[in-house]
Amino acid sequence: MQHILDRFISYITVDTQSDPTNPNFPSTEKQWVLARMLEKELQEIGLTNVLLDDNCYLTATLPSNVNHNVPVIGFVAHIDTSPDFSGENVNPQIHKNYDGGNIVLNATQNIILDATYFDDIQQYKGQTIITTDGTTLLGADDKAGVTEIVTAMEYLINHPEIKHGTIRICFTPDEEVGKGAHKFDVKAFGAEWAYTMDGSQIGELEYENFNAASAVITVQGKNVHPGYAKNKMVNAVLISQQFINGLPSDEVPEKTTGYQGFYHLHDINGDVEKTTLEYIVRDHDLEKFEERKETMKSLVSSLNQKFGEEIFSIKIKDQYFNMKEKIAPVMHIVDIAAEALERENITPLFKAIRGGTDGSQLSFMGLPCPNIFAGGHNFHGKYEYVPLESIVQATKIVVNIAEITAEKYKK
Ligand SMILES: [Zn+2]
Repeated sequence: MQHILDRFISYITVDTQSDPTNPNFPSTEKQWVLARMLEKELQEIGLTNVLLDDNCYLTATLPSNVNHNVPVIGFVAHIDTSPDFSGENVNPQIHKNYDGGNIVLNATQNIILDATYFDDIQQYKGQTIITTDGTTLLGADDKAGVTEIVTAMEYLINHPEIKHGTIRICFTPDEEVGKGAHKFDVKAFGAEWAYTMDGSQIGELEYENFNAASAVITVQGKNVHPGYAKNKMVNAVLISQQFINGLPSDEVPEKTTGYQGFYHLHDINGDVEKTTLEYIVRDHDLEKFEERKETMKSLVSSLNQKFGEEIFSIKIKDQYFNMKEKIAPVMHIVDIAAEALERENITPLFKAIRGGTDGSQLSFMGLPCPNIFAGGHNFHGKYEYVPLESIVQATKIVVNIAEITAEKYKK
């Protein structure tokens, strides 16, 4: 336990925050620091073909130790942390034998992890909880995943009695800015399928995610001196509300759950002359997803008809799609993961992700890639925490998947 804890802490104390405003790849230079550190560590534990490529993707191989043919499988995690909250000077707090109550993250600043509000934490009573000091995120998303994959590879190397086929691993940059899969060389990776270790709560096993698009609505107004504006001024700020009010008010993130999709207005920028509304559109169901985009387009044209000119315009861009379409034909890869969980007496929690993962993009790039829990909670903020026991369990899942896959393909 101490070994895996030390490893996790050595990763989270390296700041690897990515940056959505930087067009470079990777979006921040500091991600290289952890990538190089991991490159060295993977060589030291004895993996082969350790390669850190020009785009900051780190790959390595654990060679097969059986004579029969087993499909090459992969494990993937991301090294960057969310741009939403600071990842600088992470100061982890270790709470052993957690008592089920509130955790004081920072006494001076009175920052408390409230066990009633974040009630998921109560299931980890008696365990070792790793938290922040309330001033940064923790980075369990996804350095717990990195820790689990490295430790599982090390375990398999040290336990040659556990039989497995060829395992490929990959650590990606820039997942949090939606680009983790962009320069992933699926062909060079050479796996038949893979798993991202990037889920949350223990037991999570996910192969469905949102279909996702962004939409920018531009409202072109006309600015005229307010004293002479009658019948001349078109106030873009004011009429942009007609678009906002034209969408169903209940189909927003704060009022939806499960398989319910939404329109999410996340940014408004504007003045009388010009106002832009930035939305994201999400739905698990592809047909409903397309309908949502159509709804937005027809709202734009009906508003233009009402005003008698092209005041509203819309640009929609697809971001990613529901991986279910690519996983359904190869459901045995989910079954193997479910069996790996069951061997540890963990009941698989099949959840439809209300977001995307690297795996959803990878699945469409030819590498079917369900997502497995990495163990952390409250991602992207100061209340992020992870039970050490969940990291240990997820490590066992990686080992079990390697072993089960080899068993399945034994003649
Ligand atoms: Zn993540």
